[in-house]
Amino acid sequence: MSGNLTVVDHPLIQHKLTLMRQFDTPSAVFRQLLQEISTLLAYEVLRDLETTSKTIQTPLAEMEAPVLKGKKLVFVSILRAGNGLLEGMLDLVPSARVGHIGLYRDPDTLMPVEYYLKLPDNMEERKVIAVDPMLATGNSSAAAVQRLKEHGAKDIKLVCLLAAPEGVKAFEKAHPDVHVFTASIDSHLNDHGYIVPGLGDAGDRMYGTK
Ligand code: URA
Repeated sequence: MSGNLTVVDHPLIQHKLTLMRQFDTPSAVFRQLLQEISTLLAYEVLRDLETTSKTIQTPLAEMEAPVLKGKKLVFVSILRAGNGLLEGMLDLVPSARVGHIGLYRDPDTLMPVEYYLKLPDNMEERKVIAVDPMLATGNSSAAAVQRLKEHGAKDIKLVCLLAAPEGVKAFEKAHPDVHVFTASIDSHLNDHGYIVPGLGDAGDRMYGTK
């Protein structure tokens, strides 16, 4: 894999992902699995968080113990399916700020159309983790990251559950500075822009819509 792409192939993630892919997995189970996987992905994505130390007292001794320091985190959910990844990340870092970007794919052009944007202030000082379960054409994620940059963000990572090779390539071309984390790179995109074998429409699977 290229330097800016990490496939997180932990067996627990792969097992849960297989359950999510199955067409008859109910929405409630699908959401639960997505939340669990996102916590596991967050562990890897946040591996480079900086720490500092503070003096604490254990029952036995005083010690210098590590605590998180540095830039404030913001998770940015690319709606609507991004919310599924968001929840597991917030479980790990409940104090993180949360931004939302609403994009839908025009079914004819497959290009993203923005309908909502809400971000915390001082984006330039924050470590930004953008979450979008499906890196399909890469158009939506690339557009979302472009908007983050326009709002000052400089330190950005993108986390997805599944990626298509076409999406990885397009995203890398648009944002070579943004590290992408995914649980799998699937075979290809079909003519409708769906990832194959994939898991279908992530938002529909999460919320039982169609
Ligand atoms: N979005 C989805 O939800 N699924 C795909 O396969 C592609 C884009």
